[in-house]
Amino acid sequence: MKMLENKIALVTGAGRGIGAAIARAFARQGAFVFVTDIDLAAADEVALSIGAQAEALPLDVSEPEHWSGAEAVVRDRFGGLDILVNNAGITGFLETPGPHDPEHFDLASWRTVHAVNTDGVALGCKSAIALMKRRAAGSIINLSSRSGVVGIPAAAAYAASKAAILNHTRTVALYCAEQGYPIRCNAILPAAIMTPMWDAMLGTGAARDAAIAGVEAGIPLGRFGTADEVADAAVFLAGPTSSYMTGGDIHLDGGILAGAQARPERAEED
Ligand code: NAP
Repeated sequence: MKMLENKIALVTGAGRGIGAAIARAFARQGAFVFVTDIDLAAADEVALSIGAQAEALPLDVSEPEHWSGAEAVVRDRFGGLDILVNNAGITGFLETPGPHDPEHFDLASWRTVHAVNTDGVALGCKSAIALMKRRAAGSIINLSSRSGVVGIPAAAAYAASKAAILNHTRTVALYCAEQGYPIRCNAILPAAIMTPMWDAMLGTGAARDAAIAGVEAGIPLGRFGTADEVADAAVFLAGPTSSYMTGGDIHLDGGILAGAQARPERAEED
């Protein structure tokens, strides 16, 4: 039995990276998937590779009108939605001029990151509640980050937005429970997943190899994670095996947050 048989899902930012892997995994588990992205050509390519169980839609998550348009399409086609993954997110490194440190940050760049990451998730949750509250069961999955629970000096807006997503996940979960809606809301906190998002941080050529080795040296499991490993967690949160889980979060970080650099150790004897 497939985990998501007959479920209707929508994934944002699914034209590549983690979102594309989640869309493919949902379809393999029997769901029909709306593959959405700000880049319709990229979404189309992913939807075509999935086949009859997928349809591409243009959706800039920071635009309320795009959400109303997507809501109308989903309602017309299926009457409602069972699973939403608020996956689209940007660091701002490529998309904005920056800088992004707390001393010198550029306000327009800060606002752009929050418009996509924070507003995008809040608008997605709003649409999902409207589309899910009369279904048998709904699951909203928000992509936060390890950066939502630790400070990131070079990416202040990204880190603040990912903390906001984590807390909004809990608010949505409690709100839906209080209203008696059959909707769960949980977060995934990835770190160091090898996707195009890392291109701006890793550079190219020999410098890239050195940068990858540098990041991997700080990961207890000693390697980057894969988008498919995040998709496995999304399938779990989307399906019935996580039915008692709401307002919760799953860390997928190779052990990065399990410990600390400064830790007590017995000194070597002379
Ligand atoms: P990615 O490779 O950069 O993919 C993000 C996708 O979102 C791209 O297709 C991008 O389209 C799209 N997008 C950008 N702005 C959008 C908007 N306004 N509306 C709709 N789609 C938009 O990123 P990823 O690594 O797969 O990350 C997915 C999520 O996981 C993000 O929320 C990210 O913060 C989170 N995450 C990732 C990692 C990691 O290590 N990779 C770690 C922690 C958290 P364009 O290509 O046209 O820009």
